[in-house]
Amino acid sequence: MIVIISNKVSEERINEIVQHIEKNGVQAHVSKGVDRTVVGIIGNADPKLSEQLRQLTGVEQVVKISKSYKLASRDFHPDDTIIKIKDVEIGGEQLIIMGGPCAVETAEQIDEIARLVKAAGAQVLRGGAFKPRTGPYSFQGVGVEGLVMMAEAGKKHGLLTITEVMTPEYVDVCAEYADILQVGTRNMQNFDLLRKLGTIKTPVLLKRGFSSTYDEFLNAAEYILAGGNPNVMLCERGIRTFESYTRNTLDLAAIPALQTLSHLPVISDPSHGTGRRELVEPMCKASVAAGANGLIVEMHTDPDNSMTGDGVQSLFPEQFAKLMVDLEKLAPLCGRRFDTKKEEFAV
Ligand code: PEP
Ligand code: MN
Repeated sequence: MIVIISNKVSEERINEIVQHIEKNGVQAHVSKGVDRTVVGIIGNADPKLSEQLRQLTGVEQVVKISKSYKLASRDFHPDDTIIKIKDVEIGGEQLIIMGGPCAVETAEQIDEIARLVKAAGAQVLRGGAFKPRTGPYSFQGVGVEGLVMMAEAGKKHGLLTITEVMTPEYVDVCAEYADILQVGTRNMQNFDLLRKLGTIKTPVLLKRGFSSTYDEFLNAAEYILAGGNPNVMLCERGIRTFESYTRNTLDLAAIPALQTLSHLPVISDPSHGTGRRELVEPMCKASVAAGANGLIVEMHTDPDNSMTGDGVQSLFPEQFAKLMVDLEKLAPLCGRRFDTKKEEFAV
């Protein structure tokens, strides 16, 4: 249930209404907009409560919400969530670009890629230190050492960092080194991991499970939000369909659909969404046109020798830089600001 209160009433009155709600043993989540304050109620409310609230001065409307997720829904939180990390704002007008290799391999590799990512004008360096591999014999990542290498590269080149965390036990150490924690597609419903991420405030990029519905995806986000971490962004990374030409099918409609259903920022991952280098650039542009708040793109200086199989979907540095030049032109047409500084590009 949500309670809509006009902002014409005093702050004191709004607090009284909130207190009245809380006296009923339920949680009240307050979201202040320009004209209205929306109070989302979570818990088993007495059926009489909605009628009581309707009678209170200042209450404009009481609406029953039938969706299973609440905090992630736009009904509960009509304004877009903006996640601020240093001078970067994710979820607002700024178009966010996260670029880098699938996996951190060596200190030299991540340092050089960070330099190129920064020079091209992106804000965030991506790279996995812990890799969720389909097969147990494949390269599993360099582990904690990789976190250190990435943090150093990010610091040196003035980039935020994002890395994947796979188990609750590693959340704290990953959060110590990275600015954003990624939950991979295979872990979208790892509820213990989601619960643990709810206990910290580090922003989380939650990838959609490759066979999950929007409803399941938003319920996974709800686990993190319900734990007390409001800094969640959603990532469309492609789903499994009958098509085998592409690795996954990037669900472009998910971008505006999720933005309608939820207030959380939506990031698109055309690298995993297609699995083919030549499709990454057009799908990045299509994602921006569809309203994405940002992109996460794999780029490697030597994709043929990448230690994960994701070299085939990694852009060469020149392609990444060219994409950024094009996005700078496209972003304003799609209501986004591209305001990072590109340096003279030298490969
Ligand atoms: C990745 O980002 O490298 C990755 C493994 O992503 P996903 O979980 O979407 O497959
Ligand atoms: Mn990858």
